[in-house]
Amino acid sequence: MIENCSLPEVKITASQDKILEGGNLTFVCEVEGSPTLTVRWQTEALHSHFFTKLQESRDSALELVLYLTNVSSKDNLHNLTCEAENQAGPGERMVQLDIEFPVRIIFLNNAVPQHHWCFPFAVDGNPEPNITWLYNGKKLNETRYIYTQPIVDSGDGSEKHGCLFLDKPTHVNNGNYTLIVENKLGRDEATALGFFMHNPFDNFEGVIPCPTNKSDMDVTENPESRMYLVYVAVGLGVFACKLLLIMVLVVYKCGHHSKFGIHRSSVLGKEDDLAVSLRFMNFGTSPPSSDEDSGLSSFVENPQYFCSIIKDKDMCVQHIKRQDIVLKWELGEGAFGKVYLAECANLSPDNDKMLVAIKTLKDANESTRQDFQREAELLTVLQHQHIVRFYGVCTDGEPLAMVFEYMRHGDLNRFLRAHGPDAHILDESKMPPLGELTLPQMLHIAAQIASGMVYLASLHFVHRDLATRNCLVGEGLVVKIGDFGMSRDIYSTDYYRVGGRTMLPIRWMPPESIMYRKFTTESDIWSFGVVLWEIFTYGKQPWYQLSNSEAIECITQGRELERPRTCPKEVYLLMQGCWQREPQQRMVMKDIHSRLLALVKNPPVYLDILG
Ligand code: AMP
Repeated sequence: MIENCSLPEVKITASQDKILEGGNLTFVCEVEGSPTLTVRWQTEALHSHFFTKLQESRDSALELVLYLTNVSSKDNLHNLTCEAENQAGPGERMVQLDIEFPVRIIFLNNAVPQHHWCFPFAVDGNPEPNITWLYNGKKLNETRYIYTQPIVDSGDGSEKHGCLFLDKPTHVNNGNYTLIVENKLGRDEATALGFFMHNPFDNFEGVIPCPTNKSDMDVTENPESRMYLVYVAVGLGVFACKLLLIMVLVVYKCGHHSKFGIHRSSVLGKEDDLAVSLRFMNFGTSPPSSDEDSGLSSFVENPQYFCSIIKDKDMCVQHIKRQDIVLKWELGEGAFGKVYLAECANLSPDNDKMLVAIKTLKDANESTRQDFQREAELLTVLQHQHIVRFYGVCTDGEPLAMVFEYMRHGDLNRFLRAHGPDAHILDESKMPPLGELTLPQMLHIAAQIASGMVYLASLHFVHRDLATRNCLVGEGLVVKIGDFGMSRDIYSTDYYRVGGRTMLPIRWMPPESIMYRKFTTESDIWSFGVVLWEIFTYGKQPWYQLSNSEAIECITQGRELERPRTCPKEVYLLMQGCWQREPQQRMVMKDIHSRLLALVKNPPVYLDILG
C-alpha cells in the first residue's frame, strides 16, 4: 500500500485565449498528485512548431510547458491534451486551440444536381465567416428556394462544407454564382457556373404566330371586352359553324384521344347536352372536307380566334404572350412535358403580375398541336370554383404551353401524404412535420371534389381519371380538380399499361371500365369513391398490397376496399354507394355532394375503435 496516494490532478493555463495565425502560444500543464510518474502533451496531430520543458512550480507541483511557435491555422479547434499518470491511475485535461486567420475559400464547384441543385463549397476561417452570394454580379437574395445550407464542420480542423441549394431551378437561373466570404481578418471570393437547363422557349421553329395587333392586346388586358369583340366577330361565322358541328360530332364519335388527356369520345356522347360547336375543330384525325378547308385555313394561321359555342356561350381561348411569362422553377413533370411555376403579366386587370402554373407540351408534332388546341378549347369551357382555372395558351414559340392558376400546395395525393401519420418518413426537408388532417378537413376536401364532379356531370363530361393525384390544393385548403390525365409519369405505378401505349388507372376503375373499357359518369362516381378512400387513408394507393393483375381480379370479382381506420361509418357508406357493381345502382354525384356537405356541417363523432 502506497501512502498519500492520489490520482494526478491536471490543470492547464494558457498564455492567452486566442492567437493570430503565425503567433506564439504557451501552455502550462500543472500536475498534482503523488507519486507522479509521467506527464506528457499529446502533440502527434499538431501542425505548428513546438517544444516542451519540464519544470517544478513554486509549490513543488510538476509543470510541463508546451511552447507553440508560428502557430498554424490548421491547428485551429485542435484539442490539445495533457495527460499524466501515476500508480493510482491516469488523469488528463484538454484545451481547444483558438487560432484566428483570414477566411479563404477552399473550393467552389459548378452546380451539380442532387435532391436540389447544389453549388458545393468549402471555406475555412476564424472568426466564422459571413457568407453572401452574387448572381451574375448582383446580390443574390436567399429565399426558401435558393438558400445556403447551414454549413457543417468537415471534421478536419475548422474547415466547413456547404451548398448553395437551388430548388428546381430553370433556365432563368442559369448564370455565374459568386461566393463571397468575409471575416474581420480578410475576404475571399470565387465564382462557379450554374447551368440548369436550356431555355425551353428558345427554339422558335414551327411557330404558330401570336397575336400582335391592337385588338389582341385589348383581349389580353380586358377579357370582357375581348369576349364582346369575339362575340361580334364570331357571330358572322355562326352559320358556318352550325354546318361544322355535324362534322365535329363525326370526328368525336371516332373516339379520338387527346394527348393532353381529355377524352373527347366520352365528352361528347350521343346524349350530350354539352352543345359543343367547336367551330374550328376540324383539325382532328379525320381529313377535312373541301368545304371546311376553304373556311378554316385562315383560323389555323390565327389561332387566337379559335372559339367554341357551348350552351349558347362563346368560349374563346385566350392567348398569352410569351414575353408576359417569366418561368421561375419547375413544379413537376407530367407525361407530356414539364410543369413550371411562372409569373405572368397582363392576365387580369386587377393584378399586375400573377403566379401561374405553366404546362408545356414537349416535342409537339402536328397531331399533338391539334390535340393541344382542342384541349385548350375544352379547358376554356370548364369553369367552376372547383376546377382549376385555365387562363389560356402560349403558342408563340416552343414549347406550346398552357397557363393555369397556381395551386400552392401541389397535388392532393402528395398533400395527403404530407399531412398523414407517415409524413416524417416522406419529408426530405427535415422541417417539423405538418399536422395530421382532421376529420372535418377531410370531409371539406371530399366535398369540394364532389362539387367539381357535380359540375362535370352536369356537362356530361366524363373525367375517366379522377384520383387525388389529379386534384390540386391551394391556399386555405381549397381543392380543385386540376388535371385531366397528365400525371402519368410521376405516378406511373398507379397505371396499368395495356397494349403498348395505353395506361389505365385500374385501381380507380369499376369492373365495367376494366372489362369493357366503358367510361361513363357512373364510372367517375366509382372513382370518386376511391378518391374518398384515398383521402381517409392519407393518400395510400388503393390495393397497395396487390399487383396490378391481382387488383384487377379483386375489383372484377367484387371485392371492396376496406374501411380506413380514420373513416366514420357514414363516409364508408358513401364509398360503398359509389362501388355498386351495377352502374345504375350507384349514388349520383349530386346526392354524394349534399351528403358530404351535411357531414361537413355536422361531422360525425368518430371513435377509432376499428380493430
Ligand atoms: P401534371 O402534369 O398535371 O401531372 O403535373 C405534374 C405536377 O406539377 C403535379 O403533380 C403538381 O405537383 C404540379 N402542378 C401541376 N399543375 C399545377 C398547378 N396548377 N399548380 C401547382 N402545381 C401544379
